[in-house]
Amino acid sequence: MTPPYQLLAETAAGGRRGRLLLPHQTVETPVFMPVGTQGTVKAVPQDTLESLGVEIILGNTYHLYLRPGHEPIRRMGGLHRFISWPRAILTDSGGFQVFSLNALRKVTDDGVQFRSHLDGSSHFFTPEHSIDVQIALGADICMAFDECTEYPATRDRAEESLRLTMAWARRSLDHFRAHCGEVPWRNQLEHKQGVPHPSSAWVGSHDPQSPALGPAQSWVPPVPRPWGPGSDPAQSEIGSRTQSLFAIVQGGMYRDLRRQCAERLVEMDFDGYAIGGLSVGEPRELTLEMISEVLPLLPKDKPRYVMGVGYPDEIEQYARLGVDMMDCVLPTRAARHALLFTSEGRLNIKNKQYSEDQSPPDPACQCPVCRRYSRAYLRHLMNAGEPLSATLNSIHNLAYYLAIMQRVRTSLESAPTPFQA
Ligand SMILES: [Zn+2]
Repeated sequence: MTPPYQLLAETAAGGRRGRLLLPHQTVETPVFMPVGTQGTVKAVPQDTLESLGVEIILGNTYHLYLRPGHEPIRRMGGLHRFISWPRAILTDSGGFQVFSLNALRKVTDDGVQFRSHLDGSSHFFTPEHSIDVQIALGADICMAFDECTEYPATRDRAEESLRLTMAWARRSLDHFRAHCGEVPWRNQLEHKQGVPHPSSAWVGSHDPQSPALGPAQSWVPPVPRPWGPGSDPAQSEIGSRTQSLFAIVQGGMYRDLRRQCAERLVEMDFDGYAIGGLSVGEPRELTLEMISEVLPLLPKDKPRYVMGVGYPDEIEQYARLGVDMMDCVLPTRAARHALLFTSEGRLNIKNKQYSEDQSPPDPACQCPVCRRYSRAYLRHLMNAGEPLSATLNSIHNLAYYLAIMQRVRTSLESAPTPFQA
């Protein structure tokens, strides 16, 4: 059994340079994952994401389940093929959106009843159903169904949420193990005698033996091969050839509950571990405290993912502490609201001071937007309500986040190679 994670170097502070071996892509870690809520990273086309060096994006199970539906996506060959994204995808469990978008949800031990925010229709999500949807979407990494504890929460509330999260993690894992062979890539393999889908020519591939640590930007287009992982799932290696399932550590802002949750989930033996329920309104010191509490309890040979963070300085800080994966809507959402992250600090591109400023958004940035356009032009696009504004601002902010992680990865590479048994 090949683990989906290779630890390449580790610092005394715990920072890890590693590599995730996923069916569609080898992902260099620590990594920032842009969020593609509805099968799109808002305003940024897939080829642009590729040219920026993005190796993995997120999809939101809740949104894709409601529209266009996981069954249509399964019939079209899975999410990679539907959105024409050959690299890796992680889907969340749907839990966070069910909880954040549905004031009238009803939670029982079995699952959650909620109404669609689109048309008011009634739906029931269980751990098993969440896993079925994620298998149909065919993400490289699926997440166990959890209940995200709000902030602030009483201890009773956090304990109850924790109890549900652990029970649902067990059910998610059992169901995943029984059904992960039903991933839609399999159908594509069965039909590989037919005419290949145009995008199948550039399906992602990975080479677990690939040598040097390379920057994401140096990613070389993969060798053409049939769409999908390329082997019978029943005989495939876990990690490199099939979907992975990560558990989510909850426990609110209670250190002992976080510890208890982490220990129980580690016993269940998931492919990776996420720390959820953070960045939900708590002070940043508390976020850091919870991350620092949980990280030492997680197995070193598995990836660690902190969900929904954060600002540029936060992602750098957490990566240096040993977080391998992070995602956040912030770079793209802020971009649509005129906020650019730059090496000179935050910049509100709407400000009048930029009206004739012909310098690039960030003079230190090498992204295609900073190489071509001026602050004055970006300000004009924003003020004129032009759609290109969202696109250009988002590309720069994503490039800025990706460059931070590239810098962190490079600096972690100088750390000693850990002893591997
Ligand atoms: Zn830029």
